[in-house]
Amino acid sequence: MTTNMSLSKEIADALCTIIVLGYSADINRVRFEYNQDEDKAEYENVQTKFKKLGVEITVGKSEEKSHFPLIVGETGSVEMFGNEQAKVELSEVHKFANILEKAAEKGKGTQKFSGAYVGGFAAIGTVDIIGASDLSLYEGKYRTQDLDKVQKSYQQAKKVSNAVIEAITSYFGGKVGAVKINGIQIRNSYMNEKVTADYKRGHLFKSYHGMIKAMTTFMTGFNRTQNFFFEIALTSDTSKVSSCFPCATFMRVHKNPPTSTHLGRGDNWSIPDGADYLKKPWEKSIIEWYNKGMKIINQHDSKTEVIEKWQEFVDTFQPKIEDKNIPEIFLESLTFEGSFTEKINMTLKK
Ligand SMILES: [Zn+2]
Repeated sequence: MTTNMSLSKEIADALCTIIVLGYSADINRVRFEYNQDEDKAEYENVQTKFKKLGVEITVGKSEEKSHFPLIVGETGSVEMFGNEQAKVELSEVHKFANILEKAAEKGKGTQKFSGAYVGGFAAIGTVDIIGASDLSLYEGKYRTQDLDKVQKSYQQAKKVSNAVIEAITSYFGGKVGAVKINGIQIRNSYMNEKVTADYKRGHLFKSYHGMIKAMTTFMTGFNRTQNFFFEIALTSDTSKVSSCFPCATFMRVHKNPPTSTHLGRGDNWSIPDGADYLKKPWEKSIIEWYNKGMKIINQHDSKTEVIEKWQEFVDTFQPKIEDKNIPEIFLESLTFEGSFTEKINMTLKK
């Protein structure tokens, strides 16, 4: 008899649900935003299910992209737009986002740019553009099944990332350098290289979102009252101006919470290597949110079959799963693609 279970989509979705629940319980009436009316019902479904567990969240529609095409990390500088210098910078970044949007729209041709985000860092007088999502292949420790879908997703993600990099590079005249707009230097020197690795059989992959790339590159020396991080949603194929849930967790841990958070996809999300000083506090919070979520479920005696499967996975997996393994399992769970509303609504029945 084999007792060693492999991480399945169902089990992975249960873990994601437990973490969103714990996160929501930790933040008073945290707000999640959808950008299409057709998603409203799914969000309200999550809201009702969480309420039954004593956790209040608010849901609502996000701002129109045509009005504000950015996700911004709210720090001392941009919070309530209290700082005059930050206000000027933000308005310049906004203008630049519109210019970049046009360039990407032109550069994409017949391709679809779904999920194309570019990260950035704004300081006084300079704006650095980072991204698009960088990818890295790895072998899963917990997920060893259902790998046939990963290859296709990797190839699609690689195509989008490279097309975005191409569109931006061509905006900069095909060079690494800077353009000056309204006295602000916009630089592409921190843009990542194109993704070249071919998919390796049996592998999973990590996707480093623009926001996380920007934060891990520029957090040292980050001035909370003068600088801010942002992400631009590129082209009409990418309409969400809200942060994905995994990005929101990372941003919140580092006191840089997003202007808006959605419960859509955060597929294959991960944190680049070499940023342990930022990853460690994030791991600590994920473990706390996980324990908080589990506690709430146990208190309400609301274990569903899916959550029982998660527990069985924890109990039988070898080597033994401990709290310290939870962040790593969470990251592997994100390789099972799908929206968070779907994950939550599948896990918490009724
Ligand atoms: Zn994200």
